[in-house]
Amino acid sequence: MSFRASVLTLYPEMFPGALGLSLAGRALAEGTWSLETVQIRDFATDRHRTVDDTPAGGGAGMVMRADIVAKAIDHAAPADDARPKLLMSPRGRPLTQARVRALAAGPGVVIVCGRFEGIDQRVIEARQLEEVSIGDYILSGGEPAALVLLDAAVRLLPGVMGNEASGTEESFENGLLEHPHYTRPQEFEGRTIPDVLTSGNHARIAAWRRAEAERLTAERRPDLLQSQPVTK
Ligand code: SAH
Repeated sequence: MSFRASVLTLYPEMFPGALGLSLAGRALAEGTWSLETVQIRDFATDRHRTVDDTPAGGGAGMVMRADIVAKAIDHAAPADDARPKLLMSPRGRPLTQARVRALAAGPGVVIVCGRFEGIDQRVIEARQLEEVSIGDYILSGGEPAALVLLDAAVRLLPGVMGNEASGTEESFENGLLEHPHYTRPQEFEGRTIPDVLTSGNHARIAAWRRAEAERLTAERRPDLLQSQPVTK
């Protein structure tokens, strides 16, 4: 069974967007995964197809209505749908490679994209939406975040990446940032490729890469070393 993504949005035209190209696009065309968009506005009930209203308690902006978002969710994911229901949200748990891997191993995802100030808290609770953030900054809508999450998940689906090994040696997969890369030419503006990489000694190359990965991680992301013990 292929990975099924349903995206609930006010801007279905944003999909598949970048996911229609390259690795993800080919996998979509081949049926390795599928993408359905649901226009939340189709579930509005008034003449003007209104999806938002003013915030209770006052303040700036508008809030997406719980009843309308709930109807869109129930349409996309009936009660027996096993897929996790995500809400892209700056208040969510930051997305990690481990979470992406777990999602990619499952049946797919239902993703709600917020707009305006966000969505009514009651639908988050009533439909048990898992809030997921892609970083500590504010986007104008959940759609770019959904594209990011799907890109990260789809490339892990079996057969999508050309070279399977490149998936497991990357940054974050072992709790470390990846080592630097080099390719021809041998000399670029006076800088040469580190000798060890052209030595042909695979054990030395592996040790160098490991040491560089540890050095870079300690320098740039010491938090990664704390959260995940480095294993040999
Ligand atoms: N008022 C909200 C921000 C709303 S931004 C707050 O201060 O928390 C509008 C929508 O964009 C959100 O509902 C969410 O779906 C999406 N969004 C914004 N930033 C995001 C982020 N860092 N990660 C995931 N989704 C985000």
